[in-house]
Amino acid sequence: MRHDVTFPLYVEVDEIYNLACPASPVHYQFDPVQTTKTSVHGAINMLGLAKRTRAKIFQASTSEVYGDPEVHPQPESYWGKVNPIGPRSCYDEGKRCAETLFFDYRRQHGMNIKVARIFNTYGPRMHPNDGRVVSNFIVQALKGEPITLFGDGTQTRSFCYVDDLIDGFLKLMDMPADFTGPVNLGNPGEFTMIALAQKVKAITGSSSPLVHKPLPVDDPKQRQPDITLAREALGWQPIVSLDEGLTKTIAYFDRLLAAK
Ligand code: UDP
Ligand code: UDP
Repeated sequence: MRHDVTFPLYVEVDEIYNLACPASPVHYQFDPVQTTKTSVHGAINMLGLAKRTRAKIFQASTSEVYGDPEVHPQPESYWGKVNPIGPRSCYDEGKRCAETLFFDYRRQHGMNIKVARIFNTYGPRMHPNDGRVVSNFIVQALKGEPITLFGDGTQTRSFCYVDDLIDGFLKLMDMPADFTGPVNLGNPGEFTMIALAQKVKAITGSSSPLVHKPLPVDDPKQRQPDITLAREALGWQPIVSLDEGLTKTIAYFDRLLAAK
Protein backbone atom coordinates (compact mmCIF):
# COMPACT_ATOMS: atom_id res chain seq x y z
CA MET A 1 0.00 0.00 0.00
CA ARG A 2 1.28 3.48 -0.84
CA HIS A 3 0.18 6.00 1.77
CA ASP A 4 1.21 9.46 2.98
CA VAL A 5 1.66 9.12 6.75
CA THR A 6 0.56 12.73 7.32
CA PHE A 7 -2.99 11.57 6.54
CA PRO A 8 -4.98 9.15 8.75
CA LEU A 9 -4.74 5.45 7.96
CA TYR A 10 -7.34 2.88 8.99
CA VAL A 11 -5.96 -0.67 8.71
CA GLU A 12 -5.82 -3.65 11.10
CA VAL A 13 -2.30 -4.28 12.39
CA ASP A 14 -0.48 -5.67 15.41
CA GLU A 15 2.98 -4.13 14.94
CA ILE A 16 3.95 -0.76 13.47
CA TYR A 17 7.43 0.39 12.43
CA ASN A 18 7.22 4.15 11.89
CA LEU A 19 10.23 4.81 9.66
CA ALA A 20 8.56 7.55 7.60
CA CYS A 21 10.69 10.67 6.96
CA PRO A 22 13.53 11.56 4.61
CA ALA A 23 16.81 11.32 6.56
CA SER A 24 19.37 12.87 4.22
CA PRO A 25 19.94 16.61 4.86
CA VAL A 26 19.56 17.49 1.15
CA HIS A 27 16.24 15.65 0.96
CA TYR A 28 14.74 16.73 4.29
CA GLN A 29 15.70 20.37 3.60
CA PHE A 30 14.07 20.34 0.14
CA ASP A 31 10.56 20.73 1.65
CA PRO A 32 11.17 21.43 5.35
CA VAL A 33 7.53 22.09 6.21
CA GLN A 34 6.58 18.67 4.85
CA THR A 35 9.48 17.14 6.84
CA THR A 36 8.11 18.47 10.14
CA LYS A 37 4.59 17.36 9.16
CA THR A 38 5.89 13.88 8.35
CA SER A 39 7.44 13.48 11.79
CA VAL A 40 4.71 15.20 13.84
CA HIS A 41 1.44 14.49 12.01
CA GLY A 42 2.88 11.12 11.01
CA ALA A 43 3.58 10.20 14.65
CA ILE A 44 0.08 11.34 15.70
CA ASN A 45 -1.60 9.24 13.01
CA MET A 46 0.53 6.15 13.66
CA LEU A 47 0.02 6.49 17.43
CA GLY A 48 -3.72 6.88 16.84
CA LEU A 49 -3.64 3.73 14.72
CA ALA A 50 -1.63 1.87 17.39
CA LYS A 51 -4.00 3.04 20.12
CA ARG A 52 -7.10 1.83 18.27
CA THR A 53 -5.59 -1.52 17.25
CA ARG A 54 -3.55 -1.98 20.49
CA ALA A 55 -0.50 -2.53 18.30
CA LYS A 56 3.09 -2.36 19.50
CA ILE A 57 4.73 0.66 17.85
CA PHE A 58 8.37 1.36 16.94
CA GLN A 59 9.66 4.88 16.31
CA ALA A 60 12.75 5.56 14.22
CA SER A 61 14.24 8.45 16.17
CA THR A 62 17.69 9.79 15.55
CA SER A 63 21.07 10.86 16.90
CA GLU A 64 20.02 14.31 15.62
CA VAL A 65 18.02 14.73 18.84
CA TYR A 66 21.50 15.36 20.37
CA GLY A 67 22.17 18.16 17.81
CA ASP A 68 25.77 19.43 17.88
CA PRO A 69 26.59 17.56 21.10
CA GLU A 70 28.59 18.92 24.03
CA VAL A 71 28.69 15.47 25.67
CA HIS A 72 30.80 12.83 23.98
CA PRO A 73 29.99 10.00 23.34
CA GLN A 74 26.24 10.58 23.62
CA PRO A 75 24.25 8.54 26.20
CA GLU A 76 20.43 8.45 26.07
CA SER A 77 20.30 10.63 29.19
CA TYR A 78 21.86 13.61 27.31
CA TRP A 79 19.20 16.19 26.33
CA GLY A 80 21.13 17.54 23.35
CA LYS A 81 22.05 20.89 21.86
CA VAL A 82 19.68 21.58 18.99
CA ASN A 83 19.08 24.84 17.14
CA PRO A 84 15.26 25.24 17.03
CA ILE A 85 15.22 27.64 14.03
CA GLY A 86 18.02 26.51 11.68
CA PRO A 87 17.96 24.57 8.41
CA ARG A 88 18.32 21.21 10.25
CA SER A 89 15.54 21.99 12.75
CA CYS A 90 12.71 20.58 10.62
CA TYR A 91 14.31 17.17 11.01
CA ASP A 92 15.80 17.47 14.52
CA GLU A 93 12.82 19.14 16.18
CA GLY A 94 10.32 17.06 14.20
CA LYS A 95 11.94 13.89 15.54
CA ARG A 96 12.18 15.36 19.06
CA CYS A 97 8.46 16.24 19.01
CA ALA A 98 7.70 12.71 17.75
CA GLU A 99 9.53 11.32 20.81
CA THR A 100 7.43 13.62 23.04
CA LEU A 101 4.26 12.28 21.41
CA PHE A 102 5.36 8.67 21.88
CA PHE A 103 6.05 9.15 25.59
CA ASP A 104 2.84 11.15 26.15
CA TYR A 105 0.74 8.49 24.39
CA ARG A 106 2.41 5.95 26.67
CA ARG A 107 1.73 8.00 29.82
CA GLN A 108 -1.86 8.83 28.80
CA HIS A 109 -2.90 5.57 27.14
CA GLY A 110 -0.43 2.97 28.46
CA MET A 111 0.81 2.08 25.00
CA ASN A 112 3.60 -0.33 24.10
CA ILE A 113 6.19 1.97 22.50
CA LYS A 114 9.75 1.26 21.34
CA VAL A 115 11.94 4.27 20.53
CA ALA A 116 15.32 3.79 18.81
CA ARG A 117 17.79 6.64 18.28
CA ILE A 118 19.50 5.70 15.04
CA PHE A 119 23.02 6.94 14.29
CA ASN A 120 24.42 7.30 10.73
CA THR A 121 23.63 4.11 8.82
CA TYR A 122 24.71 2.98 5.35
CA GLY A 123 24.70 -0.05 3.11
CA PRO A 124 23.65 -1.58 -0.20
CA ARG A 125 20.44 -0.23 -1.80
CA MET A 126 21.06 3.35 -0.74
CA HIS A 127 20.10 5.67 -3.59
CA PRO A 128 23.08 6.97 -5.62
CA ASN A 129 21.61 10.49 -5.16
CA ASP A 130 20.87 9.99 -1.47
CA GLY A 131 23.19 12.91 -0.74
CA ARG A 132 24.67 11.56 2.48
CA VAL A 133 28.37 11.16 2.87
CA VAL A 134 28.93 7.41 2.39
CA SER A 135 27.02 7.09 -0.89
CA ASN A 136 28.39 10.43 -2.16
CA PHE A 137 32.01 9.40 -1.57
CA ILE A 138 31.53 5.92 -3.06
CA VAL A 139 29.77 7.16 -6.21
CA GLN A 140 32.36 9.93 -6.66
CA ALA A 141 35.26 7.49 -6.21
CA LEU A 142 33.80 4.94 -8.63
CA LYS A 143 33.17 7.60 -11.28
CA GLY A 144 36.63 9.14 -10.80
CA GLU A 145 35.02 12.45 -9.83
CA PRO A 146 36.33 14.73 -7.05
CA ILE A 147 35.38 13.59 -3.53
CA THR A 148 33.54 16.46 -1.82
CA LEU A 149 34.71 17.09 1.74
CA PHE A 150 32.48 19.64 3.47
CA GLY A 151 34.55 21.99 5.62
CA ASP A 152 38.01 20.81 6.65
CA GLY A 153 36.85 17.20 6.95
CA THR A 154 37.87 16.85 10.60
CA GLN A 155 34.24 16.48 11.78
CA THR A 156 33.41 12.92 12.88
CA ARG A 157 30.58 10.42 12.46
CA SER A 158 30.07 6.81 13.55
CA PHE A 159 28.75 4.60 10.75
CA CYS A 160 26.57 1.53 11.30
CA TYR A 161 26.07 -1.14 8.64
CA VAL A 162 22.40 -1.64 7.74
CA ASP A 163 22.22 -5.35 8.74
CA ASP A 164 23.45 -4.55 12.24
CA LEU A 165 20.86 -1.81 12.58
CA ILE A 166 17.97 -4.05 11.48
CA ASP A 167 19.10 -6.70 13.96
CA GLY A 168 18.84 -3.99 16.65
CA PHE A 169 15.29 -3.05 15.52
CA LEU A 170 14.15 -6.67 15.85
CA LYS A 171 15.76 -7.12 19.27
CA LEU A 172 14.15 -3.90 20.49
CA MET A 173 10.71 -4.94 19.19
CA ASP A 174 11.04 -8.26 21.05
CA MET A 175 11.61 -6.55 24.42
CA PRO A 176 8.91 -6.69 27.13
CA ALA A 177 6.36 -3.84 27.32
CA ASP A 178 8.17 -2.14 30.21
CA PHE A 179 11.18 -1.46 27.96
CA THR A 180 10.42 1.65 25.92
CA GLY A 181 13.83 3.11 25.13
CA PRO A 182 14.91 5.56 23.93
CA VAL A 183 17.88 3.39 23.08
CA ASN A 184 20.86 4.35 20.92
CA LEU A 185 21.48 2.06 17.94
CA GLY A 186 24.76 2.77 16.17
CA ASN A 187 28.35 1.70 15.75
CA PRO A 188 30.71 3.34 18.25
CA GLY A 189 33.63 3.33 15.76
CA GLU A 190 34.20 7.06 15.10
CA PHE A 191 35.92 8.43 11.98
CA THR A 192 36.70 11.84 10.48
CA MET A 193 35.33 12.54 7.00
CA ILE A 194 38.94 12.67 5.75
CA ALA A 195 39.52 9.15 7.09
CA LEU A 196 36.28 7.96 5.45
CA ALA A 197 37.33 9.45 2.10
CA GLN A 198 40.72 7.73 2.37
CA LYS A 199 39.09 4.38 3.16
CA VAL A 200 36.73 4.68 0.19
CA LYS A 201 39.66 5.61 -2.07
CA ALA A 202 41.73 2.69 -0.81
CA ILE A 203 38.96 0.08 -1.27
CA THR A 204 37.85 1.36 -4.70
CA GLY A 205 41.44 1.98 -5.89
CA SER A 206 40.20 5.36 -7.12
CA SER A 207 42.49 8.27 -7.90
CA SER A 208 39.73 10.86 -7.30
CA PRO A 209 41.13 14.07 -5.78
CA LEU A 210 39.69 15.39 -2.48
CA VAL A 211 38.09 18.84 -2.84
CA HIS A 212 36.71 21.04 -0.06
CA LYS A 213 33.20 22.53 -0.18
CA PRO A 214 31.61 24.87 2.40
CA LEU A 215 30.53 23.27 5.68
CA PRO A 216 26.70 23.23 5.92
CA VAL A 217 25.10 25.42 8.64
CA ASP A 218 24.85 23.68 12.06
CA ASP A 219 26.76 20.59 10.85
CA PRO A 220 27.52 18.60 14.04
CA LYS A 221 31.27 18.48 14.76
CA GLN A 222 31.35 15.05 16.36
CA ARG A 223 29.05 12.12 16.95
CA GLN A 224 29.49 8.76 18.62
CA PRO A 225 26.83 6.60 20.28
CA ASP A 226 27.20 5.34 23.83
CA ILE A 227 25.64 1.90 23.32
CA THR A 228 25.89 0.64 26.91
CA LEU A 229 22.09 0.41 27.20
CA ALA A 230 21.68 -1.52 23.93
CA ARG A 231 24.49 -3.89 24.97
CA GLU A 232 23.10 -4.55 28.44
CA ALA A 233 19.33 -4.50 27.83
CA LEU A 234 19.05 -5.88 24.27
CA GLY A 235 22.26 -7.90 24.17
CA TRP A 236 22.97 -6.05 20.92
CA GLN A 237 26.10 -4.60 19.41
CA PRO A 238 27.24 -4.07 15.82
CA ILE A 239 29.46 -6.77 14.34
CA VAL A 240 30.25 -5.39 10.86
CA SER A 241 33.38 -3.19 10.76
CA LEU A 242 33.48 -0.05 8.60
CA ASP A 243 35.97 -1.69 6.20
CA GLU A 244 33.78 -4.76 5.76
CA GLY A 245 30.58 -2.73 5.37
CA LEU A 246 32.20 -0.32 2.91
CA THR A 247 33.50 -3.23 0.84
CA LYS A 248 29.95 -4.64 0.52
CA THR A 249 28.44 -1.24 -0.20
CA ILE A 250 31.10 -0.42 -2.80
CA ALA A 251 30.45 -3.78 -4.55
CA TYR A 252 26.75 -2.87 -4.70
CA PHE A 253 27.34 0.58 -6.22
CA ASP A 254 29.92 -0.86 -8.62
CA ARG A 255 27.29 -3.28 -10.02
CA LEU A 256 24.63 -0.56 -10.08
CA LEU A 257 26.80 1.92 -11.99
CA ALA A 258 28.05 -0.77 -14.39
CA ALA A 259 24.44 -1.76 -15.18
CA LYS A 260 23.68 1.85 -16.09
N1 UDP B 1 -5.95 7.63 13.38
C1 UDP B 1 -5.57 6.88 12.27
N2 UDP B 1 -5.91 5.56 12.25
C2 UDP B 1 -6.57 4.95 13.26
C3 UDP B 1 -6.93 5.72 14.39
C4 UDP B 1 -6.57 7.06 14.42
O1 UDP B 1 -4.97 7.38 11.33
O2 UDP B 1 -6.83 3.74 13.14
C5 UDP B 1 -5.57 9.04 13.42
C6 UDP B 1 -6.78 9.94 13.64
O3 UDP B 1 -7.05 10.59 12.42
C7 UDP B 1 -6.35 10.92 14.68
C8 UDP B 1 -4.95 10.51 15.10
O4 UDP B 1 -4.73 9.24 14.52
O5 UDP B 1 -6.24 12.22 14.14
C9 UDP B 1 -4.78 10.42 16.58
O6 UDP B 1 -5.70 9.46 17.07
P1 UDP B 1 -6.23 9.55 18.57
O7 UDP B 1 -7.22 8.46 18.76
O8 UDP B 1 -5.10 9.63 19.50
O9 UDP B 1 -6.89 10.99 18.61
P2 UDP B 1 -8.36 11.51 18.40
O10 UDP B 1 -8.94 10.72 17.25
O11 UDP B 1 -9.02 11.26 19.69
O12 UDP B 1 -8.14 12.94 18.05
N1 UDP C 1 29.69 15.42 4.12
C1 UDP C 1 30.80 15.62 3.30
N2 UDP C 1 30.65 15.46 1.96
C2 UDP C 1 29.48 15.07 1.38
C3 UDP C 1 28.35 14.85 2.22
C4 UDP C 1 28.49 15.03 3.58
O1 UDP C 1 31.89 15.96 3.77
O2 UDP C 1 29.44 14.93 0.13
C5 UDP C 1 29.85 15.57 5.59
C6 UDP C 1 28.79 16.43 6.27
O3 UDP C 1 29.17 17.79 6.26
C7 UDP C 1 28.76 15.82 7.66
C8 UDP C 1 29.11 14.35 7.43
O4 UDP C 1 29.71 14.28 6.14
O5 UDP C 1 29.75 16.40 8.47
C9 UDP C 1 27.90 13.45 7.46
O6 UDP C 1 26.93 14.02 6.60
P1 UDP C 1 25.60 13.26 6.19
O7 UDP C 1 24.83 14.19 5.31
O8 UDP C 1 25.92 11.92 5.67
O9 UDP C 1 24.81 13.02 7.55
P2 UDP C 1 24.56 13.90 8.89
O10 UDP C 1 25.22 13.11 9.95
O11 UDP C 1 25.19 15.25 8.74
O12 UDP C 1 23.10 13.98 8.99
